[in-house]
Amino acid sequence: MNMTVGVIGLGNMGGGMAATLVRKGFAVSGYDLSGSALARAEAQGVNPVAQLDELIARVDLLILSLPKAEHVEALCLGAGGILERGRAGLLVVDTTTSTPEASRKVAAALAEKAIGFIDAPVSGGPKGAATGSMSMVIGGSDADLAKARPVLEAMSGTRVHIGPSGAGNVAKIANNLLAACHLISTAEAVSMAAKAGVDPEKLLQGLNAGSGRSGATQVMFPTWVLNKAYDSGFTMGLMRKDVGLASDLCESLGLDLPLSRQVAALWQASAETLADGEDFCCIVQRSDSQLYAKGE
Ligand code: NAD
Repeated sequence: MNMTVGVIGLGNMGGGMAATLVRKGFAVSGYDLSGSALARAEAQGVNPVAQLDELIARVDLLILSLPKAEHVEALCLGAGGILERGRAGLLVVDTTTSTPEASRKVAAALAEKAIGFIDAPVSGGPKGAATGSMSMVIGGSDADLAKARPVLEAMSGTRVHIGPSGAGNVAKIANNLLAACHLISTAEAVSMAAKAGVDPEKLLQGLNAGSGRSGATQVMFPTWVLNKAYDSGFTMGLMRKDVGLASDLCESLGLDLPLSRQVAALWQASAETLADGEDFCCIVQRSDSQLYAKGE
């Protein structure tokens, strides 16, 4: 019989994950602080639960999709949370882009009560969550991963077990540092070529056939930038958080990486002109406000 699943955080990502699992035959319950997120999930077959402790008691596996590490820590270790209310044998899959320290701390605390925890941050955006095609980089034990496998396989297309607890978030932070960098460097290269008289669409075809290609040239520019849609479902606020996580990780390791430092400075400075709720692809506008102006 399929495991029963609970999803905590039914936003752009968690809402899609929950709907995917319903479609794949799992009994899914969901919890969110936002009534509208709960209602959207209910319309997709998720059983909405108003009380967190009720959800924790009801399921075999809990998926977290929360904004930040501090939300994960509060929900797992805080009053009325998973440590207090969860039973031995419960398994928590945290898909939040969080910190390696938070993952290790929560995993160690939950292990005292025989509750499993894996950090499994994701890529692929809301579309990947809604279609079950996300990729996951995973930190945790082989045993917990094996137990979670049927659910992970239903909600993602690719999974890489990176290492022990926290390793998934190290990999995710490295991934998003590169994505943040590629978005700016591609914006500059496309703007340069446009000023030299080259059509951006043609340039992208050339880049994607060459060694300059990346997620920015293959996905972000064609899907959200050049068509001026800026509707990826991933916000400036969340990407600034992720770039900040990379800066914090470098600092904690005593590393001074000049390019990463500059990328972080550009993303943090963008807060002056781009609100947290704007699409993260809007960062390209700092490179060329005319070429990358939003569509009407
Ligand atoms: P979101 O803001 O759309 O959703 C977060 C949801 O969590 C909201 O519905 C909010 O009400 C809920 N929430 C917050 N605190 C809560 C609590 N204590 N209890 C219950 N619910 C709570 O964010 P998102 O875009 O879905 O991102 C979620 C995570 O996934 C973030 O860590 C983000 O960095 C990561 N991520 C996002 C994307 C993307 O494209 N959006 C891609 C990969 C990873």
